[in-house]
Amino acid sequence: MAKNEFDIINHYFAHQQQQRDDVVLAIGDDCALVDVPANYHVAISTDSLVAGTHFLVDADPAFVAYKALASNISDLAAMGATPAWVSLALTLPTIDEAWLAPFCHSFFELANRYNIQLIGGDTTKGPLSITLTVQGLVPRGQALTRSGAQVGDDVYVTGNLGDSAAGLALILNQSQCDQRLTKVLVERHFKAHPRVNVGEALRGIASAALDISDGVIADVKHIGERSQVAIEVDVEKLPLSAELLAFCDGDCQQAQQLALTSGEEYELCFTASKANRDALKMALAHTNVKYSCIGQVIAGRGLLLLQLGKPVSWKLSGWDHFVVTNK
Ligand code: ADP
Ligand code: MG
Repeated sequence: MAKNEFDIINHYFAHQQQQRDDVVLAIGDDCALVDVPANYHVAISTDSLVAGTHFLVDADPAFVAYKALASNISDLAAMGATPAWVSLALTLPTIDEAWLAPFCHSFFELANRYNIQLIGGDTTKGPLSITLTVQGLVPRGQALTRSGAQVGDDVYVTGNLGDSAAGLALILNQSQCDQRLTKVLVERHFKAHPRVNVGEALRGIASAALDISDGVIADVKHIGERSQVAIEVDVEKLPLSAELLAFCDGDCQQAQQLALTSGEEYELCFTASKANRDALKMALAHTNVKYSCIGQVIAGRGLLLLQLGKPVSWKLSGWDHFVVTNK
C-alpha cells in the first residue's frame, strides 16, 4: 500500500517501462540524463491539465492520462519530432490509489506505443493537476515550424475533422444519436491518435505545420501569422467522416461548421508547395493516414473562407469575423 510521495514514485512511476538506449539515468536521481545524437535537435513542449478547467474533477483517470500525454505527443508530431522522453509533474489532493492505478496503466500504455520513456517528474499535494514536458528528436534543420508557409502553397489536413466535437456534444448530452454512432464518435473524442508518423514523413516536404487543438480555423491562423501570409480554406474540401454526416442528419453545413471549430482533433494541418505534391503522396503513402487539401496560402493577412468559390463570413462560436486584406 503506497503511503507517501516516495512510495508513490517507486510503486507507480519508477521501473514501469523498458529503458531506452539513450537514457543514461532515469527516475531516482536529482536529474535524468539522456544522450542526444549528433545532428539532432531536441524538441521540447509542456502542457498542463488542471481539474475543473481542462477535465472534470471526477473524469476517468485513464482518459485524463491519455489526454495529457496524447496532446503533448501531438505537439511533437506537429514539429516533425520523434518522441523520446517525458517528465510528469503530478499534483494530487490525496494519495488515491483507485485514481493512480488506472491513470498509470493508461499513461504507460500510450507511452510504450510511442516509445516515449518517463524519465522524471515531481509529485506534490494540492488541487489535481498534471503537467507534462515531452521531448523528442528531429534532425537538425528539419523541424516543421509554423513560419515557413509561402504564397501558392497548398494547405492540408490529416484524417477527418469534426468528429471530436460531435463526440464531446454526445458526452455532454447536448446531442443524441443511435448507440453505434455514439460509440464511434465518443471514442474519436477520447482516443485521438497523435500523427507522429505523418510528422516524421513531412520532414523536408511541408513548409509549415501545427496540430489542431483549438479548431482548424483558429489554428491555421497561427500559420498565417507566423508566416506573414493569409490562408484560404474551401469549406467544401473539409474532410468529413460518414459518422459526422450521420450525426448531423446529412446537414452538410452543420458538419462543416463542426469541422471548422472542433478542437482536440490532434490531426495535423500543414502547408506544402505544389512542386512537392508527388513527394508528399509518396512520403505519406506508407503512413496509412489520409490527407486532404483544404485550401491554399495567399498573399495578405488573416483567413478567408470560401464556399462554392465565393468568400463567406460565417458566424461561428467564438469567431465573429474573418477579414482578409490582400496587399
Ligand atoms: P527532488 O527532491 O530532487 O526534486 P523528488 O523527491 O521530487 O526529487 O523526486 C525523486 C525522483 O523521482 C526524481 O528523480 C524525480 O524526477 C522522480 N519523480 C518524482 N515524481 C515523479 C513522477 N510523478 N513521475 C516520474 N518521476 C517522478
Ligand atoms: Mg521534486
